[in-house]
Amino acid sequence: MSDLHQTRHFTAAPSPATRPARVTLVGAGPGDPELLTLKAVRAIRAATVLLVDDLVSDGVLRYARKSARIVHVGKRGGCASTSQDFIEKLAAAEALKGERVVRLKGGDPFVFGRGGEEAQHLRAQGIEVEVVNGITAGLAAATSLGVPLTHREHAHGVMFVTGHARGDDVALHWPTLAAAAAQGITLVIYMGIATIESLQRGLLQGLSPQTPVAVVQHASLPQQREVRCTLRELTATVQREGIASPAIIVVGDVLRALQSLPPPMTVTLAA
Ligand code: SAH
Repeated sequence: MSDLHQTRHFTAAPSPATRPARVTLVGAGPGDPELLTLKAVRAIRAATVLLVDDLVSDGVLRYARKSARIVHVGKRGGCASTSQDFIEKLAAAEALKGERVVRLKGGDPFVFGRGGEEAQHLRAQGIEVEVVNGITAGLAAATSLGVPLTHREHAHGVMFVTGHARGDDVALHWPTLAAAAAQGITLVIYMGIATIESLQRGLLQGLSPQTPVAVVQHASLPQQREVRCTLRELTATVQREGIASPAIIVVGDVLRALQSLPPPMTVTLAA
């Protein structure tokens, strides 16, 4: 056997039978495919099976192989109630068959994406899990407004919180978060539209009604819409403008930096 032949032998991809079962949790970012990481694109291209969440845009799926099996596991796929359990079982079964499984999630898999639960359950079954970061919607929403989430004059920190807690036992205490925001922590609220009235009420217990607020729907996508108002007007503005999920609510003085920044730069790269 020649040296060249041997080298080829050792660098060839392992066959499905010898490759360890693995699932890659990939962050698909907020929607604009240009916000995908290079690692994410590479994983999507290599996948033979993709389990795809609702919030993943069609533009991202363009990078999948034509032969790949794409399973929409959100409402869009007609499976209103695709359970977490079902998704994890499917991912595990396909990985154990030797498929290259990518679990594609909106934003970052580890920010309100249940990526932690999925990784834990898969690893418990002896399946290797790799996680590829994505740009989380909160970052994209702020940038699309031209707002820095921290700013030396306005905010020295940022908190990502969900408006949709799992049960009363872990319900958020909005007045406490309001107190943090009053101390210069920007609040970035995910899944807050359904509970907007109660979160507004809670935040008003610790923040001035004049606190600036912005809501961004479909951040980074062509259909993006945003509204800016004060905390006092939050619910009324969202309802009047028909802003719906998926949307991010940004609360804090950092929004006062808005006027001083130019709009975000758009860079178009050659294909
Ligand atoms: N893992 C995701 C979050 C999933 S939770 C991430 O890191 O971004 C789902 C919530 O994310 C939605 O209810 C909404 O609050 C937010 N979201 C996701 N994509 C969004 C987008 N393009 N624009 C605005 N909000 C978005």
